[in-house]
Parts: sequence; C-alpha cells; structure tokens
Amino acid sequence: MTRTISVLGATGSVGKSTLDLIRRNRDEWRVVALTANCNVPELAALAQEFGAEVAVVGDESCVPALRDALGNCGIEAMGGAAALCAAAARGADVTVAAIVGCAGLAPTMAAIEQGGIVALANKEALVSAGDVMTAAVVRHGATLLPVDSEHNAIFQCLQGNRIEEVSCITLTASGGPFREWSQAQLDAATPAQAVRHPNWDMGAKISVDSATMMNKGLEFIEAFHLFPVGLEKLRIIVHPQSVVHSMVEYRDGSTLAQLGPSDMRVPIASCLAWPARMDTPCGPLDLAAIGKLSFFAPDEERFPATRLAREAAHAGGAAPAVLNAANEIAVAAFLAGQIGFTRIAIAVEEILSRDLPPAPATLDDVLAVDCEARARAAELLECA
Ligand code: NDP
Repeated sequence: MTRTISVLGATGSVGKSTLDLIRRNRDEWRVVALTANCNVPELAALAQEFGAEVAVVGDESCVPALRDALGNCGIEAMGGAAALCAAAARGADVTVAAIVGCAGLAPTMAAIEQGGIVALANKEALVSAGDVMTAAVVRHGATLLPVDSEHNAIFQCLQGNRIEEVSCITLTASGGPFREWSQAQLDAATPAQAVRHPNWDMGAKISVDSATMMNKGLEFIEAFHLFPVGLEKLRIIVHPQSVVHSMVEYRDGSTLAQLGPSDMRVPIASCLAWPARMDTPCGPLDLAAIGKLSFFAPDEERFPATRLAREAAHAGGAAPAVLNAANEIAVAAFLAGQIGFTRIAIAVEEILSRDLPPAPATLDDVLAVDCEARARAAELLECA
C-alpha cells in the first residue's frame, strides 16, 4: 500500500537520509511536500526526482529561482514561513520534521495539527515548546515518533513495557570531537574542528552542539517531554563509540539498550516503518570488530552545557526556550568566527541568569520568548 510523506528540511542531513530510504522503496511512498531554506538546486532536483506535489523554500526571495529550476514539470513552488506551514498542513501519512532550529517550530506544529505521524528530528521544537507541542499531539490525535537516535533508542526500549516501571533512562553521548581536550585547547577550538564529529555526519549546528555537549543537554529536555518519567530519572553517560544509543533501566534491575551503527538511516527507518521494520543499506553491527564499549561520567567543568540544560529543565517555564535561543545565536556567532568556542556556554549561562519571561502557553508565546532571547544574546555577543 502506498503511503504519503512530506520531508521538511529535505536538503539537510536528516532530510537526505530520509529520501535515501524512500529512494530505495519508491513504490511504497508518494511524496507530498519537500522543503528547504535556500538550497534551490538541490531542492528542485529532489522535488523532480521524487515527483513531489510542492517544493517550498523558507527564504521567500528564492521563489523565482525555484520556479526557474522546476520549469514546467507541474510541481508547485512556494516560499516563506507561511508557505512552510501550508506545505506541512497539506497532511501526509508521515511528516519528517527535519528543519534545523527554531524555524522548524511552526511547520512542525502545522504537521501535528493534521493528526498523522510526525517523525520528529527538529529537537529545538520539543526543547522550546515541549508543553505546547505535546498538548497539541494529544489534542489532534497525532503520533510523535522520535528520529533522534537516542530518543528513538529509548522509544524502542520502552515498547511492550510500562513507563511506571522505569527506574532510569540513560542518554548516551559520544562526547564529541573535543572529549579529551584540555580547557586551553577548548578555548582555541575552531569551527572547522568543531564540525568534524568523530562518529556522525551531521549539519553544522548540531555538530557544534555535540562538541559543546549542548546537544545532549537539548536531548535531556527533549527526553523529559517525550518520556514522562520525571527529570530525576534522566541521566547522561559518555560513550565514545556511539554504539549503544541509549538505555532504559526497569525496577527489576533489567536494563534494555538499543545498539546500532552510527547512521541516522537506522532510527529514521524505524520511524518510517513503525510499528514494523524495514531494510536499510546499513551493515550489521560487528561487535567483535568494535571490541570494546566504554562509558564515562560527563565532565561538566569542561562541558557546562549539560548542567545548563538540566537547570533550565528544572526551572521549566520559558527557561528551555531561552536556553535554546541563546545557544542558537552563540553557535551561529562561533561558526561565523565572531566568538571563541568556550564563549558559547558562557553566553548561554549569562542570558539564562537574567530575568526570564513568563511561561509560554501558546506557540506564539514561545516564538516571542525565542525572539527576545535571541535579541538579548545577539546584543551580549556584539558587546563582547
Ligand atoms: P542541516 O543543517 O543538515 O539541514 C537543515 C535543513 O533545514 C535544510 O534542509 C535547510 O535548508 C533547512 N532550513 C534551515 N534553515 C531554515 C529556515 N530558516 N527555514 C526553512 N528551512 C530551513 O540539519 P540536520 O539535518 O543535521 O538537522 C535537522 C534537525 O534534526 C536539527 O534540529 C537537528 O538538531 C536534528 N537532528 C539531526 C541529526 C543529524 O544526524 N543530522 C540527528 C538528530 C537530530 P537549506 O539546505 O536550504 O539550508
């Protein structure tokens, strides 16, 4: 039976991994919407290859170029933030929400409101708007499946078990490219070094988040919203091999873990085929070749981001959205060569220490909190 799919963020790392799986199973899927921000050549090529109904660019100024690139092939071209939401609102059996950053919030919400399966990669959505999003999932009868490898692992380990019987959920972290670097080395780390992740091939922003460990901090908050066990039952452990993608411990002392290759096509496939399974091109896990799996407690002196995220999660209200927005601005400034690597966490902590706005109750509230925190972070970094 053919199912319909939309991929928001189709030209990104998760988007392309998703379309690689669709490409291998073309007769099982019909593509509704593909979106990007400004990568017109790639979006147009993908839209034509997959015969999408509509191709959308977030950057409205790219619409003429998109129309030119699509020619007369009958694919609708649209642009702008409202068009991203309209594309998501067309509804599909499965929507893969893989836009990076806060720009993904409103389109993800538009997909949730259609009540289908939303395979969520955009972690900023649950971090900034966790309460609003999870309430909308219930209200609209949508199914939220986590794409992020750690949450997907936890989701798999919870199948067939009762959440009340979980004693602890442990998110694994690779530790990133700077795991063994001294403070002095971290102070001098460059964007090129930060985006070179040892195990995963990912977009620039999440790669920097992995290097600071903010990625794990964001995942901690995400896990809190996805798996209602309470913050005190969530843990983080460093596992450099990225083979164990996360673990769930139960009250009887049993720990279930999901293992697999460091390839996002595995968790994406688990969402696309859920509740069944599908083939992927990923080779089997060769544990004998890997030989050794190691685990370490996180070092929050050198990598304070996980502490900041935990504190923001405990504070609740607007704090996680402020953390996320300040981090996005600081990471962008680091990638642009404007600030040093260790300044990212310092800037986030400074913004979080200021008066926080009231807890957001709607998506618009979240976006207002996000906007203000971005302005504050930008001002702080300009003055630095
Ligand atoms: P990429 O940077 O590789 O891709 C981002 C995608 O979003 C691109 O299609 C990009 O379009 C689009 N985009 C960027 N800005 C906007 C905007 N303002 N409006 C509309 N579209 C926009 O990111 P990743 O694929 O690495 O990550 C996507 C999300 O998934 C992130 O939230 C990340 O944290 C999460 N994630 C990623 C994982 C990974 O392995 N990569 C693992 C787990 C979660 P364009 O190409 O035109 O710029």
